[in-house]
Amino acid sequence: MSKRGMLIVLSGPSGVGKGTVRKALFNKSNVDFKYSISMTTRKPRPGEKNGKDYFFVTKDQFKQHIRKGEMLEYAQYVDNYYGTPLPYVNKMRDEGHDVFLEIEVNGAMQIRSKCPDGVFIFLTPPSIPALKKRLIGRGTESMPVIDKRIEKAKREIPMMRNYDYVVLNDKVSKAVEKIMTIIRSERLRVNRV
Ligand code: 5GP
Repeated sequence: MSKRGMLIVLSGPSGVGKGTVRKALFNKSNVDFKYSISMTTRKPRPGEKNGKDYFFVTKDQFKQHIRKGEMLEYAQYVDNYYGTPLPYVNKMRDEGHDVFLEIEVNGAMQIRSKCPDGVFIFLTPPSIPALKKRLIGRGTESMPVIDKRIEKAKREIPMMRNYDYVVLNDKVSKAVEKIMTIIRSERLRVNRV
């Protein structure tokens, strides 16, 4: 039987570029791990597709999944719910695939206590002004929402000490290479927790 796949969790403050880094990572030809598509109650942004970017659901549907114990973790984030559907993650890991999650910090810490054998990577911005500039440049949120996200980021950055690795996102390609290096080394570890 193949070894159970590992859980790789990429997290960090909103706007740091987790989504951009994750997309660049999965655009590489040699990716040999699976992406866990999250569920959210927020509305799709232009160009986003249900079942590809997220599973877009109503609050009632989301709560039903929680009640049925079908979420590995979930968090309320700026007025919406986001979470990781458990069945897919379990199935992939049982089949021996490593599974990659890109989630915010509360969810990552929930997984840390449930799955101590996971690999936890914190993506950090060069600075708070750089983060704000990036959020404004992205143009997907209004100014009040950006301010809320910045305040949240200030509280989240010190949480990096709870992670196994910290990756600075000054350049996407460099961050992607560092994450690939982390994954390759973790696979070579003799004793994973
Ligand atoms: P966005 O609305 O920009 O797509 O995502 C907002 C935040 O939710 C980002 O920090 C993103 O990483 C996080 N997020 C996405 N999916 C999940 C998930 O399944 N669980 C948790 N806890 N956070 C998620």
